[in-house]
Amino acid sequence: MSANERIPTGTSATVADRAAVRAWLDRVPQQIAVTPAEELADRAAIKQLLQQQNAVLVAHYYTSPALQSLAEETGGLVADSLEMARFGARSNASTLVVAGVRFMGETAKILSPEKTVLMPTLEATCSLDIGCPADEFSRFCQQYPDHEVVVYANTSVAVKALSDWVVTSAIAVDVVEHVLSQGKKVIWAPDKHLGRYIQSQLGSDDIVLWDGACIVHEEFKVRALQDMMHMYPEAAVLAHPESPIGVLELADVVGSTTQIIKAAQSRSESSFIVATDHGIFYKLQQQAPGKTFYMAPTSGEGATCRSCAQCPWMGMNTLSSLRTALEQHSNLIEVDPELGRKALIPLQRMLEFRSQR
Ligand code: SF4
Repeated sequence: MSANERIPTGTSATVADRAAVRAWLDRVPQQIAVTPAEELADRAAIKQLLQQQNAVLVAHYYTSPALQSLAEETGGLVADSLEMARFGARSNASTLVVAGVRFMGETAKILSPEKTVLMPTLEATCSLDIGCPADEFSRFCQQYPDHEVVVYANTSVAVKALSDWVVTSAIAVDVVEHVLSQGKKVIWAPDKHLGRYIQSQLGSDDIVLWDGACIVHEEFKVRALQDMMHMYPEAAVLAHPESPIGVLELADVVGSTTQIIKAAQSRSESSFIVATDHGIFYKLQQQAPGKTFYMAPTSGEGATCRSCAQCPWMGMNTLSSLRTALEQHSNLIEVDPELGRKALIPLQRMLEFRSQR
């Protein structure tokens, strides 16, 4: 199955749909162990290729420590998807190398159509993107013609092109609040957990939710988290809003990846239970040295843990696949120009909204 093929989920995702996402995951290749010597050779080659090609590496917090440290060493960036997009648009490099999942590469290309955008792999997608096909989403939106359409960045170009706003988790609540304050109703897609969190924060019934979920965050378990909180009573709980609402209700801080890192730095506690992808531990340990971090549990009652707090698609980004993409100038991101122009409007709205805050 190619990354472009869509699994038919939608307004009422069923057990069968979720099984389809899991079947897709079975096709994700297993990681091949690399020796330290191979890793060193890959790093040296990539550094040289980045320089030769006037390229900059932009990596998401959920990628491997190897990629994050390489981005730092080469003058690139490690960030959340919002900052990745802003950095790429501002960068003087002629090639953006995006280590993350496909929508991140597409966003970079929409914002910088004149630049070459390539990724270590084009197969790295996202369960939220897969679970929100543009044709089904378009039909859903037609049921609510007076609603403003606000979508999460984790969507395809075609879904963004159908939308009034694109947001990331860092500004989702603020943007929806802004839209509601104008007397408008909202369609929120695709993450229902983040949607429920927005509803709970704003106390509004004027938000209609699409039924999608992140397979990584959805696996955090409430009962097991309560047990862990008893075990580590001094630890604060930091949770990403893609987690189930029961987990968010137990959290001391609910926020985007960047907001989670800032909370770990600024809060007085010396230990934290963290409910988001394990890749963030690289930055947490770097930015809050001396503090202790525990992974929130994905096992326990009702557990079907497959990802176990590690996004399988983020894990497809490796040093070796990055090196190959640079050597072969492959895995280029192309975006349909017409769709790109339409998707640019809600993306720019997001960046302008952010810059006014
Ligand atoms: S962690 Fe979840 S939201 Fe992020 S890319 Fe993976 S599946 Fe998508």
